[in-house]
Amino acid sequence: MDGFVCQRCGACCRWPGSVLLTDADIVAAAAGLQLPEETFIAHYTQLARNRAQLTLKEQVDGSCLLLDASGSCRIYDGRPRQCREFPDGWRVEGCPACSSQSRA
Ligand code: SF4
Ligand code: SF4
Repeated sequence: MDGFVCQRCGACCRWPGSVLLTDADIVAAAAGLQLPEETFIAHYTQLARNRAQLTLKEQVDGSCLLLDASGSCRIYDGRPRQCREFPDGWRVEGCPACSSQSRA
C-alpha cells in the first residue's frame, strides 16, 4: 500500500491467522534472535496447515510468539515477508494506520 506507515501498535500481531515463513524469513528471524536456524525452527515454528511450509507459533492468547510483553515485535527489522508486506493482500479491520490513511 503506497504511503502506508505502520504505527507499530501490534494489533495485527494478535489477530488470528498464520504467518507463513519462507526460507529467507527463517534465516532473518534466526539472525534477529541471534539463534541457530535449527533452534529457531524448533522453538518458534510449527508445520502450517498447508503442510508445505512452516508458520510462526502462537502464544496461548493467539498472539504471535514473537510479540513481546510491551507489544513490540522481537524481530521487527527482520520480520517475515508476510509481516513486511502487510496490509497488502489482507482484508484489514482495526489497523490504525490503515484507518488514518482511508480518511486522508
Ligand atoms: S513476526 Fe513480528 S510483525 Fe510478524 S506477526 Fe509476529 S510479532 Fe508481528
Ligand atoms: S495493526 Fe497496522 S499499525 Fe498496528 S502494527 Fe499492524 S500494520 Fe502496524
